[in-house]
Amino acid sequence: MARIDFAGRFQASARMNLVPGAYYLGFGCRNCGADLAVLDAPTQGDPIDATGEGQFEVQCPRCGEIHTYEARAMRMWQAATAMPGGSD
Ligand SMILES: [Zn+2]
Repeated sequence: MARIDFAGRFQASARMNLVPGAYYLGFGCRNCGADLAVLDAPTQGDPIDATGEGQFEVQCPRCGEIHTYEARAMRMWQAATAMPGGSD
């Protein structure tokens, strides 16, 4: 497990164009639940342990709301490899 220690306050922009199949670190939007990808996962698919007192201020690209997220709440997920409902 990769440990990442965050300290301080970060202003992060959520990634708009995720690479299908790639792993990202981030949060779920507190307002609408959208995935907010703020970092590329340093190790592909290995669990990460986010520690420290860091906080991320992230604007949601879907609903536009800005919230502060605890670094320790950071989670990892794999970007979808196909768009739901897409036919091509
Ligand atoms: Zn949102």
